[in-house]
Amino acid sequence: MSIEINANPQSDTAKENTDNSVLNLVRQDVIDMVAYQSARREQSGGTVWLNANEQGGNNVFSQPIEQLNRYPDFQPSALINAYASYAQVSTKQLLATRGADEAIEVLIRTFCEPGKDNIVICPPTYGMYAISAKGHLTDTTTVQLTSELQLDLAALEQQIGKCKLVFICSPNNPTGDLINQQDIIQTLKMFSGKALVVVDEAYIDYCMQASCVELLEQFENLVILRTLSKAFGLAGLRCGFAIANPQVIELMSKIIAPYPIAKPVADIASAALSSEATLTLQRDIKRTLELREEIVIELKVLPWVEQVFTSKANFVLFRTTDTQKCQQLFAFMSENGVLIRNQSKQLTLENCLRISIGSEQELNEFKRLLAAFNQTIS
Ligand SMILES: *Cc1c(COP(=O)(O)O)cnc(C)c1O
Repeated sequence: MSIEINANPQSDTAKENTDNSVLNLVRQDVIDMVAYQSARREQSGGTVWLNANEQGGNNVFSQPIEQLNRYPDFQPSALINAYASYAQVSTKQLLATRGADEAIEVLIRTFCEPGKDNIVICPPTYGMYAISAKGHLTDTTTVQLTSELQLDLAALEQQIGKCKLVFICSPNNPTGDLINQQDIIQTLKMFSGKALVVVDEAYIDYCMQASCVELLEQFENLVILRTLSKAFGLAGLRCGFAIANPQVIELMSKIIAPYPIAKPVADIASAALSSEATLTLQRDIKRTLELREEIVIELKVLPWVEQVFTSKANFVLFRTTDTQKCQQLFAFMSENGVLIRNQSKQLTLENCLRISIGSEQELNEFKRLLAAFNQTIS
């Protein structure tokens, strides 16, 4: 397997292997493992955070916190009902999780036997699939996206019988575009009875008509992942969902933590899913899409920007003409307090930077610095 992950700043844990060290107890593969470099771990400081695809300002919900002496419901019904209605699925098809990240982890723990089973990922894509697999002694096979950033169906077909889970991210992070639904249908058919196809829809709220939910009726092996971290602007809440046929949900329910959703999380998430709040959400999404197109236009005219990737999500990936410009721009932004994400280490994404579509004010600062940087090199 070859997955490009940034160097681990904490890797010096491997050094002190003295007699009574905990390192004598831990699994060797955990010592060797490189932790996921989340945007928040990778860079600190800065004043304008455009590196983690969060949305700004969802602070409508501050409620008194009561009854914390009681354990919460395993799956808080107000939350499940509200999300079922938002996603237009039945409550039996839903599992609320600590972010979509926990759903990824629970899927692997439920379906992959450690040291035996494999997952398939289609890079360049989200990093956590491989990390979660590794933590569960599960190998990752990569079936690279084509040059059009679509599924390589012939290569996927080679994996039938050799994997338990196929992860497809649509809209894909960090490239931004949708995976063709016809190809997802082909993949579901191909792996029917052989593997689950997990479609990660973390960014689908920005292009809801492209969701795969309607395919759930037809395909028992489809699992969809959702989150409140992106369009809902609630990344700090840690709330996501798996949507699948009730049998898959029941199996995952055996493996997930006994009380995955804290009471305050359930309350805030339910409020964010009220019909009033989802109206505001639609307005915010529309604004984000407008701001995204403005950024695309800004980037496209720059002579040292070679490519601006099509995006259906709340971020834009772009490629500079050379490595030096990529590193210089990243450093220049960072020195001036604007954090963006360098994706150059990902398969096929040499010299690529990703900017999240934050607030208008944050993006104005980005644009101002972009113009200043452009001055220094022309
Ligand atoms: C952000 C992200 C996630 C994780 O979402 P959480 O709900 O915050 O855990 C999962 N998949 C993709 C593609 C993401 O970009």
